[in-house]
Amino acid sequence: VKPLFQNIAIVGLGLIGGSIALELKRKKLSPRIIGISRSAENRREALKLKAVDAAYSRVGSFLSEADLVILAAPVKAILPLLKNLKGFLKKDAMVTDVGSVKGEIVRAASRMKGFHFIGGHPIAGTERSGMKAAERDLFRGRKWILTPAPGTSKPCLKRLTSLIENLGARVVLMDPGEHDRIFSAVSHLPNVVAYALANAVASLEDPDLPRFAGSSLRDMTRVAGSPPEMWRDICLSNREEILRRMRNFEGVFGRLRKAVEKGNPSGLFKFFDQGRRFRKKLEAQRTL
Ligand code: NAP
Repeated sequence: VKPLFQNIAIVGLGLIGGSIALELKRKKLSPRIIGISRSAENRREALKLKAVDAAYSRVGSFLSEADLVILAAPVKAILPLLKNLKGFLKKDAMVTDVGSVKGEIVRAASRMKGFHFIGGHPIAGTERSGMKAAERDLFRGRKWILTPAPGTSKPCLKRLTSLIENLGARVVLMDPGEHDRIFSAVSHLPNVVAYALANAVASLEDPDLPRFAGSSLRDMTRVAGSPPEMWRDICLSNREEILRRMRNFEGVFGRLRKAVEKGNPSGLFKFFDQGRRFRKKLEAQRTL
């Protein structure tokens, strides 16, 4: 069978870009895969693992060969990268991204001319980062959101969908604004709360604390091991939605504080019971 894309360029050989490259290669989904990453370590690792056929430190004329460019850098770096590389693209090349926030990127990129842009967000990952953290099978059985704009070409959407399905993921189409609202609740809020919790516990500055830290603290702060650049950019790009979720969180947390202050047994029981019901529902739906 003829591959869907003859030449794929991946900008950013980190956890997500690196995992895409590994899987494209393993499944022989494209005869030529080019990686672009500023760090020599990410490039070296990608070449060593044979995840890419060639690796460059910056965008350049070699991009004129690419049928598909995948932007896999932190959210706020994606539009500047696109502006830098668009002059090199061949006519009608396709471009997608994997950024965790979609509105800002899709609004700007779908207005640009000369290439086909389709925003994307794979719902897969870990708290680890860099090409060293890349995993085969990272996308198997996971959702991969695509956020086409009104003018998106149907054949392009179909081609990208096929590629993603070949990586083992299931494509879900969403409006970018709806994506950002939902992911502010199911992903961005839990992640920022994990960092806040880590900082709050650290501020107690008791040298004995780490020795006694157990599974609750470990589970609750796991995602605070993610790169700070990534969460800085997500907060800058999805600012309004994240602020809404944070204000709501403060209200909910305030209710809990009041129940503790009052020593109100039924209030406390109700609060914890309600939370547990939600958790059980997530478990039953196997979404965790
Ligand atoms: P990562 O492992 O830290 O990789 C980030 C990559 O972007 C690296 O290759 C980095 O490499 C490059 N980069 C960083 N800053 C850059 C800049 N200013 N300009 C150009 N390149 C830059 O992070 P990741 O987890 O793969 O995240 C990549 C994207 O995927 C982000 O937009 C993130 O929101 C999204 N995402 C992450 C997850 C997750 O769970 N981790 C899940 C879904 C989506 P060099 O320094 O070598 O250039």
